[in-house]
Amino acid sequence: MQDSDLYAEILGIREPWRVERVDLDLKEGEVNVHLTHAVGALWPCPECGTLCPLYDHQPLRRWRHLDTCQLRTILNADPPRSNCPQHGARTVKLPWAEAGSRFTALFEALAIDWLRAASQQAVADRLSLSWDEVHAIQERAVKRGLERRKAEPVTRLGIDEKSFTRGHHYFTMVNDLDRSRVLFVAEHRTTESLDGFWSSLTAEQIDAVQAVAMDMWDPYVTSTLNHLPDAQRKIVFDKFHIAKHLSEAVDQVRRRENKLLREQGDDRLAGTRYDWLRHPARMEPDDRKEFAALRNSNLKTARAWALKEAMMAFFEYFYERPARKHYRWWHNRAVRSRLKPIAEKARMIRRRFENIVTYIRHRITNAASESINSKIQWVKYTARGFRNTRNFVTAIYFHCGGLDLMPSTH
Ligand SMILES: [Zn+2]
Repeated sequence: MQDSDLYAEILGIREPWRVERVDLDLKEGEVNVHLTHAVGALWPCPECGTLCPLYDHQPLRRWRHLDTCQLRTILNADPPRSNCPQHGARTVKLPWAEAGSRFTALFEALAIDWLRAASQQAVADRLSLSWDEVHAIQERAVKRGLERRKAEPVTRLGIDEKSFTRGHHYFTMVNDLDRSRVLFVAEHRTTESLDGFWSSLTAEQIDAVQAVAMDMWDPYVTSTLNHLPDAQRKIVFDKFHIAKHLSEAVDQVRRRENKLLREQGDDRLAGTRYDWLRHPARMEPDDRKEFAALRNSNLKTARAWALKEAMMAFFEYFYERPARKHYRWWHNRAVRSRLKPIAEKARMIRRRFENIVTYIRHRITNAASESINSKIQWVKYTARGFRNTRNFVTAIYFHCGGLDLMPSTH
């Protein structure tokens, strides 16, 4: 067997292509494999698939392939153009690489496999690629995956915001709550950020959306109302976001009361801030006992805390009528509690209530799944090399999008 046939075998080169010659440069650690094709071969037009004669060749191109015997291996070929009676001269699809790539499909598949498990830096080092090359492979993988994502129905969505690097640089993320994957990422948390998601859906996909969980964040509400028919019945404000608001109110009551008590030499509330935030069931037995005494006292903070817990009990209902009844009872108590921070939150909840009660029907929150959150943490952790937000967005799709990333071979 000749060297060139051996290489064709190893590299998986098929008719009409064959290996013309192999140049070995041991000093550079590089093998250059020169490919050519049978004279008179016919080429499918990339538009219509008709087998056409050769029109001409484009200038020599090179593709990095999997290393052979630890030698950097480069395929070299002049890409042919087909001469279609209908479409004219078109560059044909090559069996070893996707259009526009400087790598063979097998090499890209290897890089993608590594990128799933290791940082971009590690992959760049291991495969001797530049940052730009690693990013290009990752971006092409994501583009391919997003194109392949069929126009499949997604019924329950969670819209979440994530901050990234140094505080207040926000991203909007839309999660598929049923399949635990990120559907969409955009910079900022404006109406426009979310508009981009809705406009990426087909009319059928929009029809299929039954419920959307989100924080009480007006830009997201506006965008959803503008794009989703009957959105009033489908928006579900996140119950943890409501709990957070009520906890803030409890803490405001506590701070004020603590100040007054300390002036009288009573420091029962000092240093208890986090006790009021934690669930008693998650406390150490001794702490729980101590906290129970505080909770059962006639302190204002204790009343505020009980009101918060009573509102959260609303989310335990399974039927709307008793849930609404519970809420009306709660609202009356909250606004008459003479606890100003609680009364203010109660008024906010009333304004938003029709999209809080939707929880009883849909039972969703916008919290991304643990697996998505841990992957996002990992992306952030390995993100030191990200020079721009586009790389971050690409990495989120790459790791959390549940996409089919691999290049196709012909
Ligand atoms: Zn054609």
